[in-house]
Amino acid sequence: MEVRNFVNGVLETTVRTLDNVTPGTGEVYGTIPRSGPEEVNRAVAAAKRAFPAWSSTPAAERAACLERLADAVRDNAPLLAEAEARDNGKPVSLAAHVDIPRAEKNLRFYASGIQHFASQSHAMEGEAINYTLRKPLGVVACISPWNLPLYLFTWKVAPALAAGNCVVAKPSELTPATAYLLSTWVEEAGFPPGVFNVLHGLGPEVGEAMVTHDDIAAVSFTGGTQTGARIAGHVAPKFKKMSLELGGKNPAIVFADADFDEALRTTLRSSFANQGQICLCGSRILVERSIYDAFRDALVAKASKMVAGDPLDLATKMGAVVSESHMSKILSCIERARDEGGSVLCGGNRVFPKGGENGFFVAPTVIEGLGPNCATNQEEIFGPVVTLQAFDTEEEALALANNTVYGLAATLWTTDLKRAHRVAAKIDSGIVWVNTWLLRDLRTPFGGVKASGLGREGGFEALEFFTEPQNICIQL
Ligand code: NDP
Repeated sequence: MEVRNFVNGVLETTVRTLDNVTPGTGEVYGTIPRSGPEEVNRAVAAAKRAFPAWSSTPAAERAACLERLADAVRDNAPLLAEAEARDNGKPVSLAAHVDIPRAEKNLRFYASGIQHFASQSHAMEGEAINYTLRKPLGVVACISPWNLPLYLFTWKVAPALAAGNCVVAKPSELTPATAYLLSTWVEEAGFPPGVFNVLHGLGPEVGEAMVTHDDIAAVSFTGGTQTGARIAGHVAPKFKKMSLELGGKNPAIVFADADFDEALRTTLRSSFANQGQICLCGSRILVERSIYDAFRDALVAKASKMVAGDPLDLATKMGAVVSESHMSKILSCIERARDEGGSVLCGGNRVFPKGGENGFFVAPTVIEGLGPNCATNQEEIFGPVVTLQAFDTEEEALALANNTVYGLAATLWTTDLKRAHRVAAKIDSGIVWVNTWLLRDLRTPFGGVKASGLGREGGFEALEFFTEPQNICIQL
């Protein structure tokens, strides 16, 4: 696949390119534009020109464009699912059941959301009436990561466009295929030229040129904490708005009174879904001591049976990790865990499925015997690697859960309702799931605390982020 930039309504021919590698086989299967400041300047200028007309287009018409784009996603769902699996290494069944339907839903959700978005009015009795305008910001940058490519890309561009902004967006250079395919349908969906631009290339080149551009009014970023800190360093002194969705080291707390089978089944999923490459995966599993041995043995038995295979095979449940360098990083984290004194109970190695001998596959890995402060239990690995720790009391569970710089998500397993409320409220994280995982209502605020980010996406929060409130006070 030859990925192309989409600027000012035109799919551009590219001069400088990068190779696109498919993780399932390690082969180069396409090219990606290697964009930089020149492309950013052109895209931002086009977006700036398009802004006055787009921002004054009625919300219902903007929504209709998003709906038509959602229709294109629906109509091309098998093509997109296959593209996602080939580009990212995830099982095609996961892309078909999760990533692509969610991308369509994101577009429809904000097509509807903008038509229900209201601002406030404050009456000063007999004296004045205040109302709040919510004005689009201008040209905004949307930068998304490789783990849920089209899912997270649309999660940003949909509210930005719905709110009347013009967008310059960049997917990860590791997984550009589905954002590229989406861009080929933008014109047909009715978006005027310049409203929605998609650039491809390396983060430190094209991404950095986007966030440092003076005409970019806001940056919505999802990715690693280090990159987020770097972006904040550029954006904060220019007083641009920013939304940062960053990394996590999420705890999954299993109390002895939990529904054992359900906790086990879901913990397996929250550990290894998408090869553990979901920011919401639970990577530190904390288990009450009385059931620790039984839970550990059952988890290890199930994880050992997970066989990695061809991402494009419908039967595959465990695919490849995204790149060779990411695989090396995951394997070196497992080595470090061994050096720190951890026992690798299953996995811990690269695997070579038939036909994917040169692909980037890591076996599901469960580690025990490590203290809470070691690097393995502190740093995000972002792969199919989890640790187990035992606890004796609720206080100890909470202390372990909160013992990290991150605060994105937590999962809590208990049948004691009082405990569920009590513990959930004391966990330092943006999201707590009780007796479930990854159950998402798009109306809820989504984001993290501490080093997991700044601001919230989801529901009206994203529409608030992508608009500036203006108070108008009229004396009566
Ligand atoms: P990165 O931070 O490496 O990259 C994220 C995006 O930023 C990519 O598009 C990347 O481009 C781009 N980028 C990289 N450097 C810069 C820069 N200097 N300026 C501007 N843009 C830049 O993250 P990953 O793609 O590796 O994603 C994994 C991380 O994302 C994990 O830490 C994970 O926890 C986090 N994440 C957080 C989520 C949340 O909602 N909180 C959800 C999903 C993931 P390129 O890849 O082309 O270099």
